[in-house]
Amino acid sequence: MVVVDNRRRAGSAGPSSAVRGARIGAVTATRALSPAAALLDLLLPRTCGGCGAGPPGGGGWCPACAQDTAGPLPVRVPGVGRVAAAGRYRGPLRRAVLAYKERGRRDLAPDLAGLLVDPVAVVFTRRSDGAPDPVAVRLVPAPSRPSAARVRGGDHMVRLCRALAPLLTAAGLPARTDPALALHRRARDSVGLDGAGRAANLASALYPAHGRAPAPAAPGEAVLLVDDVVTSGATLRACAAVLAGAGVPAVGAVVLADASARRAPHRGAM
Ligand SMILES: [Zn+2]
Repeated sequence: MVVVDNRRRAGSAGPSSAVRGARIGAVTATRALSPAAALLDLLLPRTCGGCGAGPPGGGGWCPACAQDTAGPLPVRVPGVGRVAAAGRYRGPLRRAVLAYKERGRRDLAPDLAGLLVDPVAVVFTRRSDGAPDPVAVRLVPAPSRPSAARVRGGDHMVRLCRALAPLLTAAGLPARTDPALALHRRARDSVGLDGAGRAANLASALYPAHGRAPAPAAPGEAVLLVDDVVTSGATLRACAAVLAGAGVPAVGAVVLADASARRAPHRGAM
């Protein structure tokens, strides 16, 4: 049973109407604020995050880059339930993710969130466990180190989830964002660590945010992890373990890009 209305998808033919509406609203609000804010709006990059093209009116994800992103793709991550990615970690999607995460392109959040609508649908429509379809979803972003979030001007995954939730709600699956996990400030950067190293690093650094267990899931509410890139799967596994330990197990995860070496052999394999 299809939970999410795919006609709302943004990944195949440019931004959805919801995404466009959000951008139009943001621009209007900026112009109403002040001349300085309007100038900032003019200076902000409005080019495609994937290829740098600057379509009239501005947009973070052009139709050509959408065409180049073949997702959604199932990803096999043992211990995390069903996982789906918007596409592979290469080409325009890789550039857009890096631009959003590391180069200050916060304006890409609505477009990248739009790419996650189909992966959410994949997670909830290819189930084989007989579980009932969810009536709502709680999006739990994979946490960033506090220092990294400060450098990025805020937690990029929380921002992404907050852009995704209204898209899912508009598509018929009421969604909310719950930053239920946190990384200790002394957590090491996982870049350069192998899978075992990442797992050990994360296991000692992840904990429920605010020092308290996440709220119990409401009846029919599914908990879904959201991350930017999956590589070894260690981050998602560690997050899933903490959530399960806190009594709110995740049904799976959606990620923007799949950089794992091992993928499900074909699309129907989830
Ligand atoms: Zn493009």
